[in-house]
Amino acid sequence: MSKIQMSTPLVEMDGDEMTRIIWKSIKELLLYPYIDLKTEYYDLGLEKRDETHDQITIDAAMATKKYGVAVKCATITPNAQRVKEYNLKQMWKSPNGTIRAILDGTVFRSPIIVKGIKPLIPTWKKPITIARHAYGDIYRNVEHRVEGPGKAELVFTSENGEESRQTIFDFQDKGILMGMHNFDQSIESFARACFNFALDCKQDLWFSTKDTISKKYDHTFKDIFQEIYAQEYQDQFEAANIEYFYTLIDDAVARVIRSEGGYIWALKNYDGDVMSDMVATAFGSLAMMTSVLVSPEGCYEFEAAHGTVTRHYYKHLKGEETSTNPMATLFAWTGALRKRGELDGLNELIEFANKLEAASLQVIEEGVMTKDLALISELTDKKLVSTESFLLEIKQKLEGMLTH
Ligand code: NAP
Ligand code: MG
Repeated sequence: MSKIQMSTPLVEMDGDEMTRIIWKSIKELLLYPYIDLKTEYYDLGLEKRDETHDQITIDAAMATKKYGVAVKCATITPNAQRVKEYNLKQMWKSPNGTIRAILDGTVFRSPIIVKGIKPLIPTWKKPITIARHAYGDIYRNVEHRVEGPGKAELVFTSENGEESRQTIFDFQDKGILMGMHNFDQSIESFARACFNFALDCKQDLWFSTKDTISKKYDHTFKDIFQEIYAQEYQDQFEAANIEYFYTLIDDAVARVIRSEGGYIWALKNYDGDVMSDMVATAFGSLAMMTSVLVSPEGCYEFEAAHGTVTRHYYKHLKGEETSTNPMATLFAWTGALRKRGELDGLNELIEFANKLEAASLQVIEEGVMTKDLALISELTDKKLVSTESFLLEIKQKLEGMLTH
């Protein structure tokens, strides 16, 4: 069998700890033997980030802009303890934050659904994808602790010196204060990313905020989405037979719980943070959540939603066999390869990605799985395997599919 050829390289961002080990195994067992894998490799492992003063992360993001599709392994976001552990020159910023800022992207997270692992919400049959705005609001806030009586005001001074002034509150005693912002261009990018993504996967798009209470702030989000939809996307949505609708966040929550899934739910930054954890948990496992960053110009960066699984890595270093779930990392690869195939018109590559996904789902549905899934799967006949054995099972299944 000849290997599948690629025409444009994928931007490959390697990472840390357990996921770095899994990354290598996936390539060796499931990709190299079948694809003439073309990648432009960036090592975002913490040592290399430290060595290059984090320039490697910026280079990787720029390469993603150039080529359009990247696949990223989970990486350590250093804290004080990591600075010590790795003897770092400084506490480098989160690579995901850096990449997101350069690509100005929106993050879409979807669960991988398999038979035997039932969502905690019985009506959910299809994935619910959360689209989270990745800029501003409470994440860029300014806060103040009010220590005693006084007047809080919201003052905006325009470039030419004009002032607008509103009283926030007349404090009689101690209290708290917060200022937040967002800007139209970021909201517009968010809206376009959501509309493009919905068209891409032919799913309805829901958007919800608290515009009844926040008549300027949240209402602006609603208005910008509506305007862009009407001007740029309505015709395409109608042609694709999908729907966009806005609804108040309270109403959305009630509808989501009663729904059967199969749509994209767009949310402001904080709402998206909270709801994506809720949805991930209710679907069963963080190890089964995929994540893709989509930029307004249509660049894609695929990754797993979980971290570097440190606890398992320390076991691995002690020579113990681990049963870490490689599914989300594997789906980052298949997502990236399929997207590359779509952009370059390589049907063989698309088919390979589809088969690899199907093979891995089939292995789990036939009862062979890693420990995290064995704990929640309702199948009666389960075989708990190590990461390596699990990948080998997938390989065997894949080979059967490729020769047919
Ligand atoms: P984590 O790596 O997601 O792991 C938390 C726990 O979730 C694990 O200890 C494990 O539970 C379970 N888990 C997560 N993924 C799993 C998988 N694939 N298979 C089986 N179990 C899995 O989060 P963390 O421990 O909070 O963070 C570790 C490092 O990852 C940190 O340095 C953090 O900065 C980084 N991080 C990176 C990203 C990213 O690159 N996107 C995201 C989040 C965190 P048990 O131990 O109970 O088995
Ligand atoms: Mg969170």
